[in-house]
Amino acid sequence: MPASLTASTRVVGVIGDPVRHSLSPLLHNAAFAAMRLDWASVAFPVPAGEVGPALAGMRALGVEGLSVTMPHKQAALAGVDHTSETATRLGAINTIVRRNGQLVGENTDGAGFLDAVHTAGCDPVGWRCLILGAGGAARAIVVALAGAGAAEVVVVNRTPTRAEQAAALAGAVGRVGSADEVDRADLVVHATPLGMLGVSPASRAGEQGPTSDQLPLDPARLGPGQLVVDLVYHPRDTPLLKAARDRGAMVQDGVGMLVHQAAHALAFWTGEKPPVAAMMAAVDSAPRLRA
Ligand code: NAP
Repeated sequence: MPASLTASTRVVGVIGDPVRHSLSPLLHNAAFAAMRLDWASVAFPVPAGEVGPALAGMRALGVEGLSVTMPHKQAALAGVDHTSETATRLGAINTIVRRNGQLVGENTDGAGFLDAVHTAGCDPVGWRCLILGAGGAARAIVVALAGAGAAEVVVVNRTPTRAEQAAALAGAVGRVGSADEVDRADLVVHATPLGMLGVSPASRAGEQGPTSDQLPLDPARLGPGQLVVDLVYHPRDTPLLKAARDRGAMVQDGVGMLVHQAAHALAFWTGEKPPVAAMMAAVDSAPRLRA
């Protein structure tokens, strides 16, 4: 964020509901400061069903770009002028870019996930991957891993039909599986809210929401030679990551993907290379994640 906001400051933001807890403005503003850009990022609370008016406002006010979070990732896709091939395939966007007065929808979750894995010194080419979950984040990762040359992308999910839909996105290397086969995976990705602090909504009518101590699999099946990634980042060191580390597996928390998907969005908006280290440092010092 610039030292002072002026009439020439360019504005981006994040839309969602709830959104006041979002780390996106912190990440974006840390990047703008390090890039010495007169840009600023803010959170825009937008209730479900209000994406259309929000995007009309974006156009009218000249907002340069938006991050899009729950519950708008699907609805926003219908409100932009163009979508990237990945976003079209996923049926969801997490980033809107203004290009020549038109709004372009992108999905940077998969690319951000791969970048995070690469920074851990890993490359999923030829890997057997097991994804727990079949929601928006899981689907983006399924597509990214298949595109990156994984040998197998196995989807495990509570609702079988959603598992089938997600696995199909990986083409020939995708299939539905069970958590019992986790011991033969090189990469295990947890993409459900289990283990998350604070937000534990019931996702199906009449059902109790997840609790922060729940594990999505039997940790006794994890061991050395595996990389376990948990997309949950509050807390950063989740019960799954603790259990995986105790069993000798390599672990990565959800902040890696969070930072790298935001870096892709910033590159789209500004046309410049984002300062990932400065963004990572901003998250490291965020009071919400230091608990
Ligand atoms: P989503 O689209 O709502 O999908 C949620 C997934 O979790 C679905 O597969 C759902 O299964 C499953 N699930 C929900 N409650 C469950 C329970 N009690 N037991 C077992 N499975 C359950 O959410 P999303 O956007 O994919 O996000 C998933 C997680 O990733 C969240 O924790 C989110 O915060 C995190 N995330 C992190 C990043 C990052 O950058 N680190 C980015 C995006 C998301 P059903 O299909 O059966 O409902």
